[in-house]
Amino acid sequence: MALLEVKDLKVRVEEREILHGLTLTVNEGEIHAIMGPNGSGKSTLSHVIAGKPGYEVTDGQILFKGEDLLEMDPEERAARGVFLAFQYPVEIPGVATMTFLRTALNAQRKARGESEYSTPDFLKKVREVSKSLNIPQDMLKRGVNVGFSGGEKKRNEVLQMALFEPSLCILDEMDSGLDIDALRIAADGVNALRSPKRAMVVITHYQRLLNYIVPDFVHVMSKGRVVKSGGKELALELEESGYAQFEDAA
Ligand code: ADP
Ligand code: MG
Ligand code: MG
Repeated sequence: MALLEVKDLKVRVEEREILHGLTLTVNEGEIHAIMGPNGSGKSTLSHVIAGKPGYEVTDGQILFKGEDLLEMDPEERAARGVFLAFQYPVEIPGVATMTFLRTALNAQRKARGESEYSTPDFLKKVREVSKSLNIPQDMLKRGVNVGFSGGEKKRNEVLQMALFEPSLCILDEMDSGLDIDALRIAADGVNALRSPKRAMVVITHYQRLLNYIVPDFVHVMSKGRVVKSGGKELALELEESGYAQFEDAA
């Protein structure tokens, strides 16, 4: 059984159809890259999978571990193992990152029917994981994303991802706004979370990120559809030839 099956998905935002019949299959352990020009519907796809409100699915299906994902509320999707790292992480002034992580993690454990972490167990866990990702402890004491650099925000997302242990990670343009050093650090974090049981969907406009997170499959989106799929070499081809060739195909 595939981990994620998106079948002929049609999605509207404010009465306008944005996805026009999108099909995508992701198996455990696979890394898929989704590339495409601005406005092709990449973020819309990630939001619909995560269950963000405001999107109307008019046709098609999304199955996750064989179950109808569209029937589940966003919290349930997260509890079952869907994780979306947003393109623009929100700032939460006044809430320490540590507190936020603990609340979110315990809510998720509860939804999974697991016991909540005690304070010492949580501290141990978060220290272990942040150490393995080279995340400095003092970052955890600061307000969530408040005054974080682009790189720190991404590392915070990677830390959340590591703590939540999702089976599907969707990374929406995690390369946006990162310089090359920050990009490498964030990508190292993501690579550390690669596992035969976990799949990743890496959304990006640029080929550059895929030098660091090397995908098994690359899909090109244009105007709300997947117009071409291939192996990692497709990303290099696109770097050469650009997206214009797909505009007519879509
Ligand atoms: P990408 O992530 O590939 O840049 P998006 O999914 O953000 O593309 O957007 C796809 C299309 O949907 C664009 O034309 C965009 O203007 C439109 N769109 C996305 N979100 C909304 C929204 N909340 N309201 C109206 N139009 C939207
Ligand atoms: Mg965009
Ligand atoms: Mg986007």
